[in-house]
Amino acid sequence: APGPAAKGKPRLLLMGQRRSGKSSISSVVFHKMPPNETLFLESTARIQKDSMHSFMDFQVWDFPGQVDFMDPSFDLDAIFGEIGALIWVIDAQDEYLEAINRLNNTILNLQPTYPNINIEVFIHKVDGLSDDYKLDIQRDIMQRIQDELSDHGVENAPINFHLTSIYNHSIFEAFSKVIQKLIPHLPTLEALLNDLCRSCRFEKAYLFDVLSKIYIATDPSPVDMPSYEICSDYIDVIVDVSEIYGWGRSPEYITSLEGEPWNTKIEDQVACKDAESAIVLTDMKRPIMLREVNKYLALVAVMREGSFERMPLVTLNVDTTVQGLAEVFEITKQKEARG
Ligand code: GDP
Repeated sequence: APGPAAKGKPRLLLMGQRRSGKSSISSVVFHKMPPNETLFLESTARIQKDSMHSFMDFQVWDFPGQVDFMDPSFDLDAIFGEIGALIWVIDAQDEYLEAINRLNNTILNLQPTYPNINIEVFIHKVDGLSDDYKLDIQRDIMQRIQDELSDHGVENAPINFHLTSIYNHSIFEAFSKVIQKLIPHLPTLEALLNDLCRSCRFEKAYLFDVLSKIYIATDPSPVDMPSYEICSDYIDVIVDVSEIYGWGRSPEYITSLEGEPWNTKIEDQVACKDAESAIVLTDMKRPIMLREVNKYLALVAVMREGSFERMPLVTLNVDTTVQGLAEVFEITKQKEARG
């Protein structure tokens, strides 16, 4: 059975029918699997707590079979008591009536006891569908759910809809939106990022969950997909590099890997212990910078052309912002610990 959610981490539960794409979604988003390789995933029946070094707590459940709401031994509270969002995956390329029936049943069963769980419907595998068709499907699904719920007297349940695919960034974008609703002090984080953008004349700043590359906050300027994609790819590059060269390496490892003078102990180096990096991409002309915030989070910003000359000032401002961001999370943690 799933254990309690880790303190202070938003908890997400992923449900839906067999073959709707749940394992693929969790593999692509949380385990960096290339989308094409999901074709060979075994669809396994599971209630699984995905243990991972992420800012959120994430579990994948298969439906049907496992959740029998009528079974008295089934401890609903252990499962739904602490979750922030229930993500329901519907395969848009398949017959979806059965999936909607099950979703409606689940909502009706959960509503009386857990009215505050956000229900997030991922209308999934929409790659290859025309824009018109996507919207038709979304409208149809929304209507069917709304009709059924209001027949049972449930109005205004918190249900949101997202069109997703693992073959592009829509799945990350959807997760970002889901997660942002669960972040305490989101306005404070957004204000910090907004101030940073203004003082450094950044085009855009994101606070990313490094493992999943889901952004949990950004400044209010519109998200532009190509720059978001570059920022998230950049995280991969830096993570790969810092796994090899970054902090947290044992002295033995360093000695074995490198010669003088690089194999001096970490303590002897006068360096920032957090990963920090900036790069100028030729196709974008604008520099991108990355700065680690804590174990799970990194700040990534798209700068403007020519920003490199002002790098010392930028670094100073970034340091202050990173401190502010980290403090917000410390406050949240202390509050949770006190109960
Ligand atoms: P699960 O049983 O819900 O865990 O479903 P799987 O993750 O095993 O996925 C079933 C099939 O759907 C696999 O062959 C995946 O490659 C495929 N799939 C998953 N996501 C997508 C998507 O976004 N688009 C397309 N076209 N296929 C997908």
